[in-house]
Amino acid sequence: MKKKYLAVAAILALLLMVGCSAGQAKESNAGEAQNNVNEEKNEANQEEPEETEQGNEVSDPIADIDLSMEPNELGEIMILMYHGVGEEELSWQRTPEKLRKDLQYMHDNKYQMISLNDYAKGVINTEAGYTPIILTFDDGRQNNFNLTEVNGELVIDPDCAVGIFEEFKKKYPDFNVTASFFVNSNPFGQKEYTEKKLNWLVENGYDIGNHTYSHDEMSKLDGEEIQAEIGSVNNIIKSYIPDYEVETLALPHGSNPKDEFISSMLEGEYKGNKYKTIAVLDVGWRPAYSPFDTLTDFTSLYRVTASEINVDNCGMYDYFKSFENNTRERFISDGNPDVVTIPKRHEKYLNMDMVGDKAVNIYE
Ligand SMILES: [Zn+2]
Repeated sequence: MKKKYLAVAAILALLLMVGCSAGQAKESNAGEAQNNVNEEKNEANQEEPEETEQGNEVSDPIADIDLSMEPNELGEIMILMYHGVGEEELSWQRTPEKLRKDLQYMHDNKYQMISLNDYAKGVINTEAGYTPIILTFDDGRQNNFNLTEVNGELVIDPDCAVGIFEEFKKKYPDFNVTASFFVNSNPFGQKEYTEKKLNWLVENGYDIGNHTYSHDEMSKLDGEEIQAEIGSVNNIIKSYIPDYEVETLALPHGSNPKDEFISSMLEGEYKGNKYKTIAVLDVGWRPAYSPFDTLTDFTSLYRVTASEINVDNCGMYDYFKSFENNTRERFISDGNPDVVTIPKRHEKYLNMDMVGDKAVNIYE
């Protein structure tokens, strides 16, 4: 036992010494390893056909799951709440360096991004052994997606949120970089580019969510006002990207509507256009449950503040640490989106409505 710890310590020390260049080397090795695995798979397939002429060789998806990775698809998933990205580090603003640090941390600690929309539909396309994580940005600030002109050419500001995401997308293709941007009446400033930006985001795998027209507290609004607040922003987005369905909502100030008006938040109509909301985001202060967990309330999902200022031990790094030292259980994917694998001790929390026609794999 002691030897094992020493070995781990030695490896850690080595990793610390070689720093970030080692991170890149590791990445390309991982890529190579994956190619090798694929080659082996192809070879295996080519050797088989004689025995399986009828094509009736069906691999058992449950037997294929590697339990040594301790998959736990009832573990927690963080929905990170960002706002601005800019020069100064503030409670509601990350500097470009800090955002890069966050992404690097997630990448190096076996997180892979998924979209909020996929989470709400129970679609988890995360590699085996990895933990899904969801990034959200409120308020549609220009520093989330800023276009600048360089030598007469329009380019994405490399230090705005989208610029930093694209940098990581290139560096780590398997990281599945994506985010949801929750906008108000004027998405990302620069009105002359709104159409360009919204189309670009959707074409490049990002999502747009609703953050209401006036950013008022929903608790003070009635059903009709709520429909106007949500419906008008939906209509603005639709005027630029007519084929895109806005399905998610971030509550301004984390303020929930009165119970009697929740239905207006989830479904409504404004000036001839209908909307349907499948996921509603609160403001704080803890990781969300798995989408397959009976405790998940899609009309009021927890988020974690993506900040290191004034977070009261409830910031993103506090929870990263809790996941690391196993004081909280993180979602660990089994690698197959059609199978939900859970440890037996969580069985009673499995929400079969969300599992749907996926296979369930329970192990002890
Ligand atoms: Zn806001």
